[in-house]
Amino acid sequence: MYEAKAAGGNSIRAHTALMNQRLLARVTLETQLRMAIEQNEMELHFQPQVDAVSRRLTGAEALLRWRHAGQYIPPDRFIPVAEDTGLIISIGDWVIDRAIAHILEWRRLTGDTPPIAINLSPRQFWRPALSRLVLDKLRAAGLPPGALEVEVTESVLLHAETGSLDELQNFRESGVRIALDDFGTGYSSLSYLRRLPISILKIDRSFIIDLTSPEESQRSQALVRAIIVMAHNLSLTVIAEGVETTEQLDCLRALDCDVIQGYLISRPLPASEFAARFLAQLESRG
Ligand code: C2E
Ligand code: MG
Ligand code: MG
Repeated sequence: MYEAKAAGGNSIRAHTALMNQRLLARVTLETQLRMAIEQNEMELHFQPQVDAVSRRLTGAEALLRWRHAGQYIPPDRFIPVAEDTGLIISIGDWVIDRAIAHILEWRRLTGDTPPIAINLSPRQFWRPALSRLVLDKLRAAGLPPGALEVEVTESVLLHAETGSLDELQNFRESGVRIALDDFGTGYSSLSYLRRLPISILKIDRSFIIDLTSPEESQRSQALVRAIIVMAHNLSLTVIAEGVETTEQLDCLRALDCDVIQGYLISRPLPASEFAARFLAQLESRG
């Protein structure tokens, strides 16, 4: 059934030994995922976002890590399972709570923190009043809405009947800024930019890779330049994802990109390490 669904539905898949194996692996993963939170196996890591020119910290993205049986299982492997099974709701709630707890702790230490972004999957918008939930949690923690940002992809509008657009509008009006993640992949279209109440546009890593590749650089630079000009005309802040080299950084600066995020600055770090390396510099101001 999963294979048939993955092929777009309305199709039939024969049951083979290989599929038995895959199915078993999936069911095992699902069972383990169900226990992951209570067994304390989830962590948030944080990747800094810095100003493209001054390199000052402007924010950070919280990225989920699942430490299981002595290794990290990457989010790309377990988030889809969590989405299919609905487990993403409880995992997502855990992410919101943990992010707020980290922000509180850091604010106690440094006085202030730049906005911390969490990723929200479309499935999380199926629950009623997601924005209320998040805003209530922020209020209960005594944090201003601007302490948190949310990252969504345009697929959040795929099931618009769930009221996701209203939820996003509510986030924005309340002061939680929204970033459009992975821009340029999937079905990104100008109509999403028109409809989504976003403040930040994140250019997908695939464009950044091609910026300095010998065959693709001209086309890529033209595209990235156009995206940045368009975003600025819409008063959006532009973040480049997956910046790995100084050549890419130089190119992005020349194209007037605002903020960069990527291994060049830092990999996603455990919370304590992120605080020590990137928030300590704020302490003097706090
Ligand atoms: P994303 O939100 O687009 O996150 C950026 C991904 O790019 C992260 O992968 C990050 O580690 C990786 N990355 C950052 N800089 C570089 C770089 O310079 N080079 C390369 N090669 N990669 C870089 P990660 O952490 O494996 O997360 C993958 C995806 O899983 C995320 O993509 C996001 O869609 C999803 N995800 C992660 N955490 C959460 C979460 O808490 N909730 C939900 N719903 N999804 C999450
Ligand atoms: Mg993201
Ligand atoms: Mg992304």
